[in-house]
Amino acid sequence: MRKIALLTSGGDAPGMNACIRAIVLTGLHYDLQVIGYRHGYNGLLDQEYLNLRSKNVHNIIQRGGTILHSARCKDFYSDESAKLAAKNLNALGVEALLIIGGDGSFKGAQHLAKHWQGQVIGLPGTIDNDIYGCDATIGYYTAIETALESIDKVRDTADAFERVFLVEVMGRHAGFIGLNAAIASASDQVMLPELSQKCDDELENIIAHIEAGKIRRGSTSYIVVITENLWPNGVTDLAKVLTDKTGVECRPVILGHVQRGGSPVSQDRVLATKLGAYAVECALEGKRDIMVGEQNQQLLCLPIADSWQKRKELDPYLVKIQQQLFDILQRP
Ligand code: ATP
Repeated sequence: MRKIALLTSGGDAPGMNACIRAIVLTGLHYDLQVIGYRHGYNGLLDQEYLNLRSKNVHNIIQRGGTILHSARCKDFYSDESAKLAAKNLNALGVEALLIIGGDGSFKGAQHLAKHWQGQVIGLPGTIDNDIYGCDATIGYYTAIETALESIDKVRDTADAFERVFLVEVMGRHAGFIGLNAAIASASDQVMLPELSQKCDDELENIIAHIEAGKIRRGSTSYIVVITENLWPNGVTDLAKVLTDKTGVECRPVILGHVQRGGSPVSQDRVLATKLGAYAVECALEGKRDIMVGEQNQQLLCLPIADSWQKRKELDPYLVKIQQQLFDILQRP
């Protein structure tokens, strides 16, 4: 093998640069030429790339975002696009393409694999952690820290004013960030897609819980962590409804894209470095149509389709204790 390529696709995640660095340096270690496509799959279609050398990845490990830039690419869904991408890869003599992204990017990888003879390898890079087959995705740990830091700050003002705050975190299909940030910040309540019941029941639950908290603790702060898109009319509407129903002032805080940015924490840098190096070694071994990941400190690879066809569950023990802690607060 002489030449490999990589790209970053979908939502950016802290640690993508650390992963790019590991791929480039490991590639150079094995005397490979490494090409970086820019702007996700768009770069593949437009043949927009650069040759990556060690100087390109110097001093990037601590930077959020991705030096290759990321993007969504609507055109990539068609067969024509996948064929064009295959033609472009062949024209450059690329033998393996490494894709750092989320489940959507991996679907794109499999789509390409139908039309390209080269090896396709996915590396899980998304803050959502919603990819089966790995304990954590690159960027996930940093996103929890970012959410946690914000919730701690919100708690200060919530405490000072004895208010209810609803903190909206990312993860419209998966509650990994929400559950972990809620546990780590000792939030009073958490609302996640995996655990959500009917909206009316959910509302009654929170109201009963706030009322019980008032009786037990007196006027005090109350924090609810909620994932985006869970409440039909949005978290601002939920705050209004709760204010009306409880008589306690309730404020929404939407964390939004700050969760995607920032310098990666050490766990993301180490994970990204391991997965980047391992993906290059898998390419050299001739593996194809796989995703690399880490479970219980063991590196592994699995069919790339498993990453979205199988569902990753929340840690059931964390769910259980979150519920227990929540119930204790309601006791008279
Ligand atoms: P994140 O969840 O962090 O935003 P992601 O990789 O899941 O990351 P998506 O926007 O779902 O992000 O996908 C990224 C890109 O992958 C899409 O813009 C598209 O170019 C490509 N892609 C997604 N699904 C498919 C598919 N079924 N066929 C071909 N290409 C796809």
